[in-house]
Amino acid sequence: MTAPLGRCGRMLAPVSSLRMGVRTCSHIGEGVPYQKTMKDKKDSSSGGSVPEYADVVVVGGGSLGCNTLYHLAKLGATNTVLLEAHKLTAGTTWHTAGLLWRLRPNDTEIALINTTREMLCRLEEETGINPGWINNGGLFIASSEKRLKEYQRLQTVGRVNGVESYILGPTETRDLYPLMNVKDITGTLYCPGDGTMDPAGLCQALTRWATQAGARVFEECPVTEIRTQETLLGGWRVTEVHTPRGIIKTNAVVNATGCWANDIAGLVGVEVPLTPMKHAYVVTEKIPGIENMPNVRDHDASVYLRLQGDALSVGGYEVNPIFLDKLDKDFSFGLYELDWDVFGAHIEGAINRVPVLESTGIKSTVCGPESFTPDHKPVMGEDPNVEGFFHCAGFNSSGMMLGGGCGDQMARWVLHGRPDLDMFGYDIRRYHPPLNNNKAWVAARSHESYAKNYSIVFPHDEPLAGRGQRKSAVHQELENAGCVFQERHGWERPGWFASSPMPVLPYDWYGAYETTPLHAEDPYKALLFNDYTFDFPSHHSQIQQECLACRERVAIFDMSYFGKYFLTGPDAQKAADWIFSANMARQPGATIYTCMLNAKGGVEADLTVSVCEGGSGSACDPAFDGRGFYLAAGGAAALQNLAHVTKEIRKNKWNVSLLDHTDDMSLLSVQGRHSRTILQELTPDDLGNDSFPFSSHKVITVAGHTVRALRVSFVGELGWELHVPNESAPAVYHAVMEAGKPWGITNAGYRAIDSLSCEKGYRHWHGDVRPDDTPLEAGLAFTCKLKTDTNFLGRAAVERQKAEGIKRKLVTLTLQDSTQPLWGLEAIVRDGQIVGYARRAEYAFALGRAIAYGYVNRPEGGAVNKEFLSTGRWHLESMGVSLPATVHLRPPFDPKNLRLKGDYEYVIETERSSALVS
Ligand SMILES: Cc1cc2nc3c(=O)[nH]c(=O)nc-3n(C[C@H](O)[C@H](O)[C@H](O)COP(=O)(O)OP(=O)(O)OC[C@H]3O[C@@H](n4cnc5c(N)ncnc54)[C@H](O)[C@@H]3O)c2cc1C
Repeated sequence: MTAPLGRCGRMLAPVSSLRMGVRTCSHIGEGVPYQKTMKDKKDSSSGGSVPEYADVVVVGGGSLGCNTLYHLAKLGATNTVLLEAHKLTAGTTWHTAGLLWRLRPNDTEIALINTTREMLCRLEEETGINPGWINNGGLFIASSEKRLKEYQRLQTVGRVNGVESYILGPTETRDLYPLMNVKDITGTLYCPGDGTMDPAGLCQALTRWATQAGARVFEECPVTEIRTQETLLGGWRVTEVHTPRGIIKTNAVVNATGCWANDIAGLVGVEVPLTPMKHAYVVTEKIPGIENMPNVRDHDASVYLRLQGDALSVGGYEVNPIFLDKLDKDFSFGLYELDWDVFGAHIEGAINRVPVLESTGIKSTVCGPESFTPDHKPVMGEDPNVEGFFHCAGFNSSGMMLGGGCGDQMARWVLHGRPDLDMFGYDIRRYHPPLNNNKAWVAARSHESYAKNYSIVFPHDEPLAGRGQRKSAVHQELENAGCVFQERHGWERPGWFASSPMPVLPYDWYGAYETTPLHAEDPYKALLFNDYTFDFPSHHSQIQQECLACRERVAIFDMSYFGKYFLTGPDAQKAADWIFSANMARQPGATIYTCMLNAKGGVEADLTVSVCEGGSGSACDPAFDGRGFYLAAGGAAALQNLAHVTKEIRKNKWNVSLLDHTDDMSLLSVQGRHSRTILQELTPDDLGNDSFPFSSHKVITVAGHTVRALRVSFVGELGWELHVPNESAPAVYHAVMEAGKPWGITNAGYRAIDSLSCEKGYRHWHGDVRPDDTPLEAGLAFTCKLKTDTNFLGRAAVERQKAEGIKRKLVTLTLQDSTQPLWGLEAIVRDGQIVGYARRAEYAFALGRAIAYGYVNRPEGGAVNKEFLSTGRWHLESMGVSLPATVHLRPPFDPKNLRLKGDYEYVIETERSSALVS
């Protein structure tokens, strides 16, 4: 035990290194700045034995566990139990600074935080317990024009979602916060609705409400074992939770144990990709004049200043955080000694922003464990392999502000099978399972995300940590050709092509730790920096060349990171009919673009499904009896697709097999008007329109290798996807490049695919279409077999919506000014009123202007119809600037799909011909 630093009268200035172990805080006020904590509460939980059965068992009594229990009860589920190893809040929640910032760069997070905020505002009335909500507002500080642009972007997305905020100049900022140095600031973003909460009051109020409704809370009751039972396709489901106070039979367990999440996940044989690190703030002595000031986030200095009565708490994100390899199971209300070598990085920034801090003493330090994840987003949702086991951990220092919203969504996930909001960004299914227990990968990626937490969120960025986990069979060929790779789902996929090789170097941890010096030269990293702009990057012209090569000649795309699955077996047709929204009663050889829906009609995935028969036994042509279905799903959502299909199969107990050929097959897509000529040179099979029409597939030989060729296109051109066993992929790639030379074939990457597909109007799942959008809203009604008698998952909801009328609709907009970029998150404005926002935007090179997609509503309610869309004056509001836009009912590029049919004998229809409004 050591004396608290604050008692030594420390000023807020750097001192020498102190690395010490965990200590237990013995006096309130010595550590955390809260008046009352749960540590001092008399045990108010249920005594005795745990019940024999519960509908849901929540493990962990921190912010997330308490929030989940409360929201379960709000939804009527009260035969529930919360088990906490020590006392409520004993883990990370006790340490929290409790800040809530309303503005986030996406609508889901804004909605989650709104839920928390609304709950904080009503909890006292509901329970008689004050959750400590102080609504003193928040100020974000910009020290550069780029940062200010980011804030303007945030302000816009806030406006769309009803969050009040203001951009202030230096003088206005000084008027609001007289103690602030504003000499070096460009501007600030002021959000009056921000504030702070008290962890003990909050958790007590949440559990009070839940227990009064019937839920039960057991403190000093650790979970020691979870029993499971085997199901189909190698899956498991939870059956029992064991504690020293008895065994609870249950079908649902929520793992809300924060930094300890892997102890609990390990009990059912799975791993959560998170790593505990030390995270800290210091509490200052009294600062005259600070009362009632808003909280401050100085992103460029990586520092926050939280109002703490008549003082401040100062914290931030360091480049060299300290990892906690193993956490003590007995950790309860523990504090770590602050390491000033690490924390000292924040001092200069804090003093610069509020100079009076230089002469202010530190009353106490708070250093606790927090769980951080590879992409700085929580890990939630049902485990893909263990039915009834729900993840709810890894909250990256946002578990208080996200707690209410995530507790609410968690409760819906458990009770309804799916959350209401688009939670894919938090879903464990966004990860590749083998990476979850790759400790080195998790640590490196989590470090990078932590260190960059306050960096500007640019539309294009890539991680430098943990790269090279999954590579396609032609990776080296692409690297030699100058490929600038992107990372998705562990895969290296092509981004765009520079003029010389740009390998990704081993992670140097940004030079943060002595053991790994910063690379002297890192050309790949230097290229990434060129993307750190809200203007066109310097390689815009290179991406243009790739796009136009595809539009005018031919391009090859390595899309090997796609998920590739064969669904076969006696019940395969039955399963396909139910799971896929499109008609699967088609002849072998058909390739069908389809959605997979949830019960509410939301789009869980979109993919192509090819109807096939058993073949020779190679990876692209497996042997099986009867009809089968070949599923090709976008790589970043591959596991989401697989998990959705698997879940339905298990639920319905169908007799099928699901063969995963993702890792042993490559996907080379050859697209453009010369694709047929090139491929025809390499295959004896007839590629003509009659024998190989659009939306069909065949097993053929290309350059002597067996491949499954699908005549489909994600870029709107004549083209084929070649699904090739890995061992054949390099030879096929070289043969295509050689045969394509006279036709000007070019390598192209996903930056081009994103632009081309956006220009053509093809939907990106999780961008233009998500689980909270229906096919009718997304313009994908054609993927639903409503004219057949075949029932499918989500059909009833889609039919209901069709009958009621569509109240929001995805529309296409192009900018009238061809020199302006768009990045997404722009407000869509009709006659001066915000009617939606851009989910996705790209520069469309053939159209010669930026293009955006977003859902629009009628401000007065009612159906979004042609009349609404074809009247009014439309603008996109981008970073505070209003840009005149044109609305299109159909995407403006090749609306008749002539290119897909190989009919290039026509003049490209420009956006003008299909524009409804200009
Ligand atoms: C210094 C600091 C400042 C922060 N500031 C903010 C902020 O300003 N705003 C914000 O939103 N977030 C902030 N956070 C983050 C936030 O506090 C956390 O994200 C949140 O408290 C995590 O809550 P949790 O419920 O996931 O985990 P925890 O609070 O750690 O709860 C997990 C619980 O599980 C229990 N447990 C473990 N094993 C078992 C077992 N076998 N059986 C039963 N129970 C078990 C533990 O005892 C613990 O009580 C901060 C964090 C720190 C450290």
